[in-house]
This record gives sequence, C-alpha cells and structure tokens, in this order.
Amino acid sequence: MCGIVGYIGRQKAINVLIDGLERLEYRGYDSAGITVIENNQLFTRKKAGKVSDLKKILDGIELKSNIGIAHTRWATHGEPNDKNAHPHSDNSGNIVIVHNGIIENYKAIKKTLTDKGYFFRSDTDSEILAVFIGYIYNKVKDLEEAVRLALSEVDGTFGLVVLSSYEPDKMIAARRGSPMVCGVGENEYILASDTSAIIKHTRNVIYLSDNEMITLSYNGIQTKTIDNQITDNQIHHIDFEISQIEKGGFEHFMLKEIFEQAQTVQDAFRGRLQVNEGTVRLGGLRSVAEVLKNAKRIIFTACGTSWHSALVGEYIIENLCNISVEVEYASEFRYRNPVIYPDDVVIAISQSGETADTLAALREAKKKSATVLGVVNVVGSSIARDTDAGVYIHAGPEIGVASTKAFTSQLTVLILIAIYIGRMRGISLPDGLKLTQALSELPKKIEEVLKTADDIKAIAKEYCNARNFLYLGRGYNFPVALEGALKLKEISYIHAEGYPAAEMKHGPIALIDENMPVVFIATKDEIYDKVISNIEEVKARKGKVIAIATEGDEQIKQYANHVIYIPETIPMLTPILSVIPLQLLAYYIAVELGCNVDQPRNLAKSVTVE
Ligand code: GLU
Repeated sequence: MCGIVGYIGRQKAINVLIDGLERLEYRGYDSAGITVIENNQLFTRKKAGKVSDLKKILDGIELKSNIGIAHTRWATHGEPNDKNAHPHSDNSGNIVIVHNGIIENYKAIKKTLTDKGYFFRSDTDSEILAVFIGYIYNKVKDLEEAVRLALSEVDGTFGLVVLSSYEPDKMIAARRGSPMVCGVGENEYILASDTSAIIKHTRNVIYLSDNEMITLSYNGIQTKTIDNQITDNQIHHIDFEISQIEKGGFEHFMLKEIFEQAQTVQDAFRGRLQVNEGTVRLGGLRSVAEVLKNAKRIIFTACGTSWHSALVGEYIIENLCNISVEVEYASEFRYRNPVIYPDDVVIAISQSGETADTLAALREAKKKSATVLGVVNVVGSSIARDTDAGVYIHAGPEIGVASTKAFTSQLTVLILIAIYIGRMRGISLPDGLKLTQALSELPKKIEEVLKTADDIKAIAKEYCNARNFLYLGRGYNFPVALEGALKLKEISYIHAEGYPAAEMKHGPIALIDENMPVVFIATKDEIYDKVISNIEEVKARKGKVIAIATEGDEQIKQYANHVIYIPETIPMLTPILSVIPLQLLAYYIAVELGCNVDQPRNLAKSVTVE
C-alpha cells in the first residue's frame, strides 16, 4: 500500500519528510500528512489530495524539529478526506501513528475500546492502532512496550511508525507484510516504506523482517521481534539509482504491477477466505445477504478489462450459484432502456470507481429499483459511494494504464462473491472446502507463472513484427482470450482479436496463414480436447500456435510452436493464472517495439467521460 517516511537526526525533519513523500508520490496515493515534535509537543497537519496541497497548508510555518513522521495514504477503509488522512492520534493526542496496510480485526478492537469509553475520529482501520497503543500506554507507561503489546493483538498487515510527546526522543517502527526500511546515516536515521525516500541521505540500510520492530533514538537503534526477542540487524548497501527503484527496480509500472499479482491476489482474499469452513466472509455484502440469496438474476455492468472479468464472473456465478447472469457493456446498458426488475442485483465493476459509463449505468439500475453493488479498487470513489453495498478488491494503486493486477484481483473478488452466494444457496461443504483451498494456493502458483517471463520475452522477440494476432479460448478462458487481445492492442498498437475458440470457424479462420500468430489458452479441463481440435485447424492452415497449457501436458507440444506452462488449479480459477502470460506477452512485445508501455497513446487510466 502507500508511503511512510520517518526521520530522527540533525536536519530539519520537515524538509526530509516532505522530500521523502515527494519521492514516494509515484506509488499513487490520495492524501498526505506529517507530525513533528516541536518543543516537546506534537504538531500535525494532514490533507486529502497531493503532497503539494499539504505543502500549501505548511507554508510560512517555521518548524525546527529534528524528529517526525509522514505518510501518503491509499485509502482502504474510509473515504480519502482530511479526517481519514494519517497521522492518527490516540485519545490523549500525545501519541501518533502512520500506518500502511490493513488491520483485519479492527472492528473487534474498536468495539472493546468503545465499550471502555474510548472514541474515534476517523473511519479508518488504522486509527484503532493509535487509540489501542494509547490505551496500553496508560497501563505500562513505556512506549516501546505499548506498541509491542498492541501489535501482538493485531491481525492483518502493517508498516507502522509511532511518535509520542511522552517520549519525545524516540521513534518506533514495525512491520508485518508491508515493507519498512531504516536508512542508517551519520547521526541520523530515515525510516521509509521504500528505499527511494532514503537514498538521497544514505545508501546503508536495514531491512526490517516481518514481525520485527525497531526503536530509534538520537543515540542509536535497537531491533527486536514482536515476541520480545532481541534481533541482530545487518546493514545492507544499496547500489542502485533513484530512477531504478522508483519502480521497485522494474523498468515500467506495468511490469511491476504484473509481478505484484501474487501479493495482490492474496490481498483480495486476505481476511475474507475461511479455508477451514469452505466459505468466505464479506462484510461489505452483509446488508444485502438476503437479497443475494434470493436473487433471480444478476447483471454485471462494466467497461474494458472490467467487462472481461465480469464475463468470467458470469460463468462462475451461473455454475456455483445457479442464478442467471447477464453481462452488459455499461455504455450500452445506460442508453437502451434495459428491462430491470426490483429483485435484480446489478453489480458495477470498475478499477477506479469513477468510470463515467459504469457510474451512469448503475444510476439507471438504481432508478429502476434494483439492488446495486460495486466491485472497485479505489476506496471512497463515486461508484463505492453510490452503491448499496460492495466489495473492494484491495489491489493498491494501479499506475500502468493497461490494467493487470486489478483484473486478477477483480476475478478473485468475483469468485469470493460466488462462493459467498453459492454457500447460501446450496454449495456443499466439501465443494466449498475445495474452492477455498484452491483459492488459497493461487499466490504460490502465480509465482510459478511469473517464472516463465524469460521464455515469453523470447516469444515476444520472434513475433513482435506480426501485424495481427488472434487469441482463442473456451469456457472460463474465453474472456481471457479477449483480455489478452485487449492488452496487446492497448500497449503495442498491434491489431488483435479475441474469440471463443470454436467461433473461429465462423469467420476469423479466413485470416489464418503462416504470418498469423494464434494464442490458445488450452488448459486441461472438460473441453480441452475440443480446444486441441481447434489448434489442429489452425496448424492445418500454417498458423503459428502459442499455447498456454497445464503443467505436465506433454501432448500439446505436438501441436503448438511454443508452449507456456501454468500450474494446475480447478478450471474456474485458471483465468487468474492463464492471463498472466498474456499480460507478459503484450508487455514484452510493446517494449520490443519501443512503445510507451505505461502511458499508451490515446488512452486514459480512469475514463471519466462517456
Ligand atoms: N488501511 C489504512 C487506511 O485506509 C492504510 C492505507 C494505506 O496503506 O495507505 O487508512
């Protein structure tokens, strides 16, 4: 998730903090804030918007402090507004925190604290950490111990930095699942969630491990685990340039985001999947559970990549829930006077939550009294606000214009929704267990798929001069064929079409000759043999076949010119794996052609016009 900077040393903290935040801006964020300790008092300013907006409200204020923390927020709980921006303070106002990640059991902790008379000023999950640490501090009167005890009670992920006027010469940080690095300079330390905020000051860093915390003072640092075991920390030397690490060492945001997918798919189901019960918990749908249980029809409305994920959702929900599902282009839906019944459930899917057509489509559905749900990435976005209920995909900021990680996170959330409804409508416990187990194994399998990147790069080199591409798949992988073709068009400007494989005979087969690369998604499932027949039809016409196949399938090598293997999973989950080689293929072809991968011509990240 987003950015953290902390500073203790000789320089004016405010300068280091603001410079650090600016270096983290590339990650995408929605609000920014700082706290410094000025004359033993906490001084905090925070603001929705850009770091430049924060700078404006700090303009003309002289801050001499040498210690402080700062944050850029990517909202996961609560709208992006001034109140929800970090730092957050405890009830006394003497302890502040900045936090990256998600506190999964925040509701339970919030309730316990509310019952004890504590209050909350924001809608975030993060604020409970501040209040909780404050509550424990009142008992133990030791900041480090209060942080440690609080973190032992917390489920979820955190990169955390804590500052307090009770102990104004100290800063405490910790991590679990969110990165945290400490730069070790001469008589100064810079904490950050990403080395790009550090290397201007020093190239010597300590990487915190999961469940490790660090206490920094003007005289030195000490690390220990959250279980109170002192740890030894090695100083590493960073020898790369700022320009390299701004994209985490990747050449483009798109590649970085493709490689994040093991993590982002996990983030989409984290805290929701109940593997031992074969079910899922979706707090965002609780208020509409009965409506979903009794729904006769679900209509998805979306555009572009989100529309493709809706198509996969259609196949999965019809299969698992036995509810009729329709998928509509939002732009068509809104203008054609669709028939909608009050017991219909309309689900709008959009990465940004601001897509103009999707927003208009859901408003239309609302007017016609349907229950309207959202599946979006950006918290507090228009679609999130305008729907009756919904599920965030928690993919973190997606900066590359061509969507990649948001697609696989959308698919993950749609499967969660299908399991959620399906278990209420009769999926058996053993089937539920099979699904949740398979879903929990996906992040590891995604790592395996990503290892094929070099092979895909070689294929990209061979075919980058083709003028046309055809992408074919069947069943759950038909929408993946559409998505593969869309990725290639978007970033390489090569004409590409996706089709259900069997439709090829009804037209596109006329295009096939020795110059036509055809990408087949031919994973092992009940229609595998049919797809093989389609591959033979292409081979008979000298087309070049690139197949995405299931590990262990040796037979396919007889038919395909190139085979990329992906691990086996249950068929309805294959799209989450099979789309990744297609994202990589599009990416490497575009790079080979010298295209601007992250900002392809004519395209915008968030399409807020009709
Ligand atoms: N979950 C926190 C929030 O919504 C932190 C988000 C972040 O990582 O920026 O405020």
